[in-house]
Amino acid sequence: MQAPPPQLWSPSRAAALEALEAFLPRVPRYAFERNFDRPGHAEVSRISPFLRRRLITEEEVCQRVLARYSFADSEKFLQEVCWRTYWKGYLASQPELWSSFRSGAERLEEESSAAPWRARYEAAIAGSTSLSCFNDWVAELKQTGYLHNHARMWFASTWIFTMKLPWELGALFMYRHLLDGDPASNTLSWRWVAGLHTRGKSYLARADNISKYSDGRWTPKESELASEATALTETPTTSATRNLPKELPRATSAEDSILVIPADDLSLELSLEAVPGIKAVALLAPVLEMGESPLVRTFAEQACSDALSRLQTATRAPRAAMITSSEGLPCLLASSGATSVILVTPGVGPDGRWQETVTAACADAELRAFQWRRPWDETLFPLARRGFFPFWQGAKAKVF
Ligand SMILES: Cc1cc2nc3c(=O)[nH]c(=O)nc-3n(C[C@H](O)[C@H](O)[C@H](O)COP(=O)(O)OP(=O)(O)OC[C@H]3O[C@@H](n4cnc5c(N)ncnc54)[C@H](O)[C@@H]3O)c2cc1C
Repeated sequence: MQAPPPQLWSPSRAAALEALEAFLPRVPRYAFERNFDRPGHAEVSRISPFLRRRLITEEEVCQRVLARYSFADSEKFLQEVCWRTYWKGYLASQPELWSSFRSGAERLEEESSAAPWRARYEAAIAGSTSLSCFNDWVAELKQTGYLHNHARMWFASTWIFTMKLPWELGALFMYRHLLDGDPASNTLSWRWVAGLHTRGKSYLARADNISKYSDGRWTPKESELASEATALTETPTTSATRNLPKELPRATSAEDSILVIPADDLSLELSLEAVPGIKAVALLAPVLEMGESPLVRTFAEQACSDALSRLQTATRAPRAAMITSSEGLPCLLASSGATSVILVTPGVGPDGRWQETVTAACADAELRAFQWRRPWDETLFPLARRGFFPFWQGAKAKVF
């Protein structure tokens, strides 16, 4: 068996803080340099794997930036960080975009062996197409679990408009290999490139743009890329088919509670230092059910181990455990002496599936179940209903 490639991102909060600190001096130049895809990617922060699992939070990143720079000098970077929140909020209000992506991708994958595009698809995911820049992006993605934002845009555009492959399979392929693979940012960015997010407005990768922003590292010929990007279309989902998860009541106190934390929110101790009386902490193991690469799996699992030991110290809860299956939770509920359960609301996506399991286990154990959502999300998610720019205007007024 081949040895896994080296892990370039260390899955810990300490590494997240270090990466942000190392990037801070470049923040004022970010607006001018961020579009360049250069080896090593020093022009961008590379903190997305940490943000994905909230080993560091968007709020914290913004606070640390603003402690050093004025809003005007750091606006572009703050704005990009808030794109993550925007996508998460948008998907929280339209979770059917995630479920229809998943079912579409699964169906297409099953049908791929008999599909007319099979050979193109296999060459694309093997990185053996006639387009050497595309092959390089595939190789970098597989080896490191990261791609620069511009490369992700070129990749998705080439996949959809030059190779004429189903966008869902491209999004699934990226999700499986990105250390920051995120249900909201990934699915909705692919939809944006395809022209499904801002209806009719798609993104076309151009040869001169690729050459300019890679400093000539890649020089595809114009004739090798699609010359137009006709936006894809779909039947819009209606509110009648919308299936928003049932909201639990908000927690008002943590006294005598078990705190249940999903694997996409791993720096909870920041909000818990002042909360006494927690009986136990349960960290829900990451749900890795979409064919994630070994690199992605290892990152997620080790990030959770890092979080569990930090949480134990911060909360001084008598018990702290990682819950890996639906059977694990009832044991903890029964033995902790708690009277209620507080679930930190997971984002839409695989980790969100735990919500039902937790609610059912609470009902069986006759414990009251509450939810807790970060104030950042409570404030900003409701603003993410339309395009990014109205969201950003609202965000500036509310949190900056
Ligand atoms: C097709 C496609 C797929 C993508 N899939 C993902 C994904 O699965 N997970 C993911 O985290 N991001 C995704 N992105 C967004 C973006 O490419 C990455 O967040 C960014 O490249 C991460 O690198 P960085 O941390 O160096 O970013 P920086 O440029 O340093 O930005 C700082 C932070 O801001 C946020 N951010 C920056 N740009 C975006 C953006 N366009 N959308 C959302 N958040 C942004 C990220 O949290 C990032 O860590 C995707 C973009 C495209 C076009």
